[in-house]
Amino acid sequence: MRFQVRLVITFFSVLLVVVLASTFWLVERLRDDLRANMQEELTRYVTTARHVLESDAFDGTREEMDRFCGELRDSIDARFTIVAESGEVLGDSDVVFRDLSSLDNHAERAEVRQAFREGLGVSSRLSATVKRELIYVAVPFVRGDTKYVVRVAKDTDAVEASVGRLSQPGYYAVLIALALALFLSVVVSSLLSRDLKSLGKKLWKVRAPKDLASTGGVPENEFLFIEKSIDSMAKELDDAIAELVRERDRLGEVIEAMHAAVVVSNVDNVVMIANRSAREMFQRGNPMDGRNLGEEVRVPVILDAIRSASELRSERFEFEMSEPHARDCVARMSRPPSSGGLILVVHDVTELRRLEKVRRDLVANVSHELRTPVSVIRANTETLLEGALNDPDAAHTFLGAIDRSSKRLAAILRDLLDLARIESGTMTLSRAEVDFHLLCESVVTSFATAAGERGLTLSSEVPPLTVVHGDPGALEQVMTNYVENAVKYTPDGGAIVITAGESDGYFRAEVCDTGTGIAPDFRERVFERFFRVDMGRSRALGGTGLGLSIVKNLVGRMGGDVGVQQGEGRGAIFYFEIPLRHGPKGDV
Ligand code: ADP
Repeated sequence: MRFQVRLVITFFSVLLVVVLASTFWLVERLRDDLRANMQEELTRYVTTARHVLESDAFDGTREEMDRFCGELRDSIDARFTIVAESGEVLGDSDVVFRDLSSLDNHAERAEVRQAFREGLGVSSRLSATVKRELIYVAVPFVRGDTKYVVRVAKDTDAVEASVGRLSQPGYYAVLIALALALFLSVVVSSLLSRDLKSLGKKLWKVRAPKDLASTGGVPENEFLFIEKSIDSMAKELDDAIAELVRERDRLGEVIEAMHAAVVVSNVDNVVMIANRSAREMFQRGNPMDGRNLGEEVRVPVILDAIRSASELRSERFEFEMSEPHARDCVARMSRPPSSGGLILVVHDVTELRRLEKVRRDLVANVSHELRTPVSVIRANTETLLEGALNDPDAAHTFLGAIDRSSKRLAAILRDLLDLARIESGTMTLSRAEVDFHLLCESVVTSFATAAGERGLTLSSEVPPLTVVHGDPGALEQVMTNYVENAVKYTPDGGAIVITAGESDGYFRAEVCDTGTGIAPDFRERVFERFFRVDMGRSRALGGTGLGLSIVKNLVGRMGGDVGVQQGEGRGAIFYFEIPLRHGPKGDV
C-alpha cells in the first residue's frame, strides 16, 4: 500500500477513535449532569411536600394523603407516593385510591428503605408499576408518632430529550471536524509523500545505475525504495570501511617492514605508530605506541628537532648513535598541518657511508697505483724523444722501463677489471665437481720453472680423487694467486706445500710456505685492495696488491671464506674454505 494511503488511514482512524470517545464521554457527562439537576429538583419538591405533610394544616387521613399526591401531580409533572413505615402505599398520584390496596408493599424499595434509615433516599430504575425508567427521591416525615415517607418519581425521558437536543450540534461539529481532518490528512500526507519521493529520487541518483538493474527501476512505495537505498548504501559503507581497514592494515604492514625507522606521533607528542626498525634503533623492547615521543627517543638532536619542528618545512639532520654499536643516521622530521603531529623517518646510512669511503679510497688508490707507471712511461718517452733514441744503449734501458711500466699498467687494469666483474656479478660462477688433485698438479706445473729457478720446493700433497664443488676457473685462479704469492714471498731455497681435505662440512685447501709470514695485525688487511705489507717489495716483484682481494671475492661468491695463519716456523698458511654441500650465497 502506498505511503500516502497508509498515512491517511492511520491518521483518520486515530482521529475517529479520539473524537468518538470524547463525544461519548461528553454526552455521558451531559446526561449525568442533567440527571443530577433533575434529582436536585425532585429533592426540593419532595422536601417542600414534607413540610406540608408535617404541618397541622394537613389532617393526615389516607384520602387526604392520596388527594395531596394527586394535587402535587397536577402542579408538578411527577409521580408522588406516600408510604407508611410498614411499606403500605397510602397515597399515589398515578394510582386511583381504591386500587392502592392492590399495590406491592413498598418497604423494600431501595429509596424508601434508605429514606427511613438515612433521611434521604435516591434511586433510579425501571418502575415495576409504570414500566418506565424513573428517578426516585424519598424523604421521611412524621405525623404524631407515625413515620411515613413521601416519594417523588419522574421519568428520564426529559433528560434523554435534552441530551438529544444538546448533543445534536456536537455531532454535526464532529462530522465537520472529521471531514476537515480527512481533507488535511490527505493534503499533509501528499506533501510528505512528495518530500519522501524526492528524497528517494535523490538517493536513487546517488546509487544508480549500479542497483538499477537489480531493483528494476524506482519502486512505487517510497519506504520500500528508501529502505532499499539505505540497505544498499549501508552495504557500500560496510564494503568501503572494510576496504579502508584492509588499506590501513596493508599500510601498517608496509611501515612495519620498512628498513627505515618510522615514528608517527600526534599533536601531544604521543607515539601513534612506531615500526620494528624504530624499536630496534631506539632500543625499545616494548611497543612505543601510546608513549611520549621524547621519552622513547632519547637522542638529543632529535629532541631539539621535536621542539623546533614547524609545519612550514621538514627538517633534515644527521646524527651518530653509539648504542648498541656505532651508526651514522640521517633523519627527516615533518609536522603535517592536517594532524599537527610529527613524522620522523630515520635511515641508518652506516653501510652507505662505508661504501662511499670505500669508493673514495678506491679512486685514490687506483690513481695512486696508476700514477707511477704512467709517469715512468711519460718520462722515458720524453727522454727518448729528446734524443736518447740515438743512443742505442740508453734507448734500450728507457724502452725496458717503458715496457715494465706498461706491463705493470696492464696487470693493474687486468686485476681491477677482474675484481669489478666479480663484485658486480657480471662474472657468473658455475658449480661443478672439480678434481682438486689435478687442479693443484696443474698449478704446481705452471710454477715449477719459477720455483726451480729460485731453488724452491713446490709440491702438492692433495690426494688423488679429491673432489670439490665449485667453479673450476675461480678455484684455479684462487690457487694460482696463493701459489704465485708463496713463490714471490718465500726466500730462495724455501718450501711450498699444497694440502686439502674436508672438515666440519667444509672443503679446506691450504698453501703453506716458509717465507716471511704475515704479522698478526696485517692478517685481515692483506685481503684488502692494494694493501701490501711491503710496498716496495711487492712492486719490485710485479705485484698489484689486488691478488688476495680477488681471491677473497671469488671464494666469497662460492659461499666460502679465506684467511691466513702463522705457519710452522716463520712462514704463512693461506687457506680457503667452501661449504661441501650447500650452495654459496652467490650465483654458484
Ligand atoms: P701483491 O700483488 O702485492 O702480491 P696480493 O694481494 O697478492 O698483492 O698480496 C698482498 C700482500 O700480502 C702482498 O703485498 C704481501 O705483502 C702479502 N703476502 C701475500 N702473500 C704472501 C705470502 N705468501 N707470504 C708473505 N706475504 C704475503
